[in-house]
Amino acid sequence: MKCGLETPALTPGLVHSTLGVMFSLLDRLWINCNRSPGDLLKEEVIKILLKRYRTVLERIDAAFDQAREDQPDAIPCYAGCSRCCYALFAVRPIDAALITEGLQTKVSRDDREEILENCRNVFTTVQSEDPEITPGFRVHQIGRSAFDRLVETVRLPCPFLTREGWCGVYAYRPRICRLAGAIFKDVATGDELEDYCPLGESAREKHGFCPVAFDLSTMYATMMEFDEACLRAAPVGLQSGYTFPAAGVLEWVPFFESTRDNSSGAP
Ligand code: SF4
Repeated sequence: MKCGLETPALTPGLVHSTLGVMFSLLDRLWINCNRSPGDLLKEEVIKILLKRYRTVLERIDAAFDQAREDQPDAIPCYAGCSRCCYALFAVRPIDAALITEGLQTKVSRDDREEILENCRNVFTTVQSEDPEITPGFRVHQIGRSAFDRLVETVRLPCPFLTREGWCGVYAYRPRICRLAGAIFKDVATGDELEDYCPLGESAREKHGFCPVAFDLSTMYATMMEFDEACLRAAPVGLQSGYTFPAAGVLEWVPFFESTRDNSSGAP
């Protein structure tokens, strides 16, 4: 799997897409006279990174869908099930950026407000459990075992879960949600990923299950590269490392709000 962040050869396609970015930037500079070229360039870079990141996620989705087709009884996921959406979990900044992009571009204003209120509530609840948690929180600041204790203690629905029980950012959900429900096994190392779905284990025990072979090592390496590139283009102050989605999204909202105010088509 190629990550697409190495120095690319100068192909007609690349020249075309580079010119595309430049023209789009000039266009937006023309319309947004109050924005600095640096800000607009950052927005373009983040948009491109997120677009490329989605192609990595699509490979996970394809492997998952294939496994579900091959072993339907052992993978209990179905549309409308939200059993894996009731625990605190951690995401990297690129996943938080992805969710926020979905929130700002595909979710109606009312639903977005409700989801952001959920995020603030999750953040306040987590903070009441551990006052060390402040905006910009990263798991490594309190350590893995303290974070695991929080996961055990704070039993709130995911802030993006709608009242009807659907994922409110489904097409923009993070990587961890796309892996839940099956066991993925790295083709290079044989290491298996833990599955957080409470229904998955019993289904596998009952029906037997062959882990989903996937190039997890490359996926992690690619993700780190996207993450670092995303942070280099991000607003000042965002840090590397895992955080919980509510905290990550609240960090990214001002950036995407400024983008949304100046682009068309947002709901
Ligand atoms: S992001 Fe969506 S799929 Fe993932 S836990 Fe939240 S509601 Fe569930």
